[in-house]
Amino acid sequence: MQWTKKNIPLQQLTSGETLNLTVHTIKGHAGPHVHIQSSVHGAEIQGNAVILLLMEKLKSLKLNGSITFIPLANPFGTNNKHGTYTYGRYNPITGHNWNRNYVDIINATKTDLSKFCEEHIDLPWQEIKFKYKQFLADLIDSYIEKLTLENKIQMNNKVNLILQKEAITSDGVLDLHTGPVATRYLYAAEYTEAIAKHLLIPNILVIPHEFGGAMDEASFMPWVHLIEAFKKAGREILCDVEAFTLEYGSEETFSLDDAQADVECILNYLRYKGMLDGEVKKIQGQYSKLANFQTLYSPIAGLVDYKKAPGESYDKGQLLANIYQLQKLDPQNPIESTVTPLYASEAGIIINRFPSSAVHEGVELFQMITNVYHD
Ligand SMILES: [Zn+2]
Repeated sequence: MQWTKKNIPLQQLTSGETLNLTVHTIKGHAGPHVHIQSSVHGAEIQGNAVILLLMEKLKSLKLNGSITFIPLANPFGTNNKHGTYTYGRYNPITGHNWNRNYVDIINATKTDLSKFCEEHIDLPWQEIKFKYKQFLADLIDSYIEKLTLENKIQMNNKVNLILQKEAITSDGVLDLHTGPVATRYLYAAEYTEAIAKHLLIPNILVIPHEFGGAMDEASFMPWVHLIEAFKKAGREILCDVEAFTLEYGSEETFSLDDAQADVECILNYLRYKGMLDGEVKKIQGQYSKLANFQTLYSPIAGLVDYKKAPGESYDKGQLLANIYQLQKLDPQNPIESTVTPLYASEAGIIINRFPSSAVHEGVELFQMITNVYHD
């Protein structure tokens, strides 16, 4: 197996230093290519433990294919500390979410795919895929070149475009994130719903074929456009290129012990892709459409005693939390005078909760999946 490492200059700082991305690539025998990156949101660091352990495990395995690893994929976000916390989700200068400035390269360049389809309509899928990857690589190169010449690259664009360029010829993209305080879950495009269960993460959010600026969408939308263009030209394509966002628990935590289970998810996906030997496992997924990924905003301010944790399911009418408002405190009846119980309005599974127990009115208290279905 062959390892390579390269540094990509990412951003000059006022004080003169330059932030770099370090990209590691491992190459085995012929096979698919998978791109894995972590910590685009700076506080979401468990993916780095997963990458570390995966690289360790690959030392003794036979790999058919190649993998790119980009740990700490957003150094500016990683380094942005406020007190004891990492302010890594938004760029503090522009306010932009670090995972929302990727591009749908086909739409961004107003590319009409009908000509590509016409020219390649009779080729076997593997050849079409090979040629389309080259087509995409050229497209993003010229797109970046044009923006650079016109001085139109904002900080978030640059990080996102460099990562997207590194990933654009992949057969699989895994963007490793975490929630605030969260269970393990993942986002999968509709056309990859049945593949997602090979990642062995039970909570699966199924996202529509629409572009919202995130890495997973930027990685699968060119293939969705290709599928549609071929469909118009009269050919059905079963696309074997996927992109997933994996949410590995809570932010601000890094655990190699937890990574032991986390890394199995990726090893199994690599087995599914034919890149590693061994039995491919699958689990029964708990699916929810993105439209049923609900946020429960705190109806009042106060101190929260959470009664349901991420990963727990609940029924309609069950107690989710008690919120205490100490300004209402009656010394004759301290608890009853201050407590407001919060009940579930429908059944679901808790995915995320607000990391603090001190909340203002209107904060995102819980995120939950509802209308859950199984395969
Ligand atoms: Zn994230």
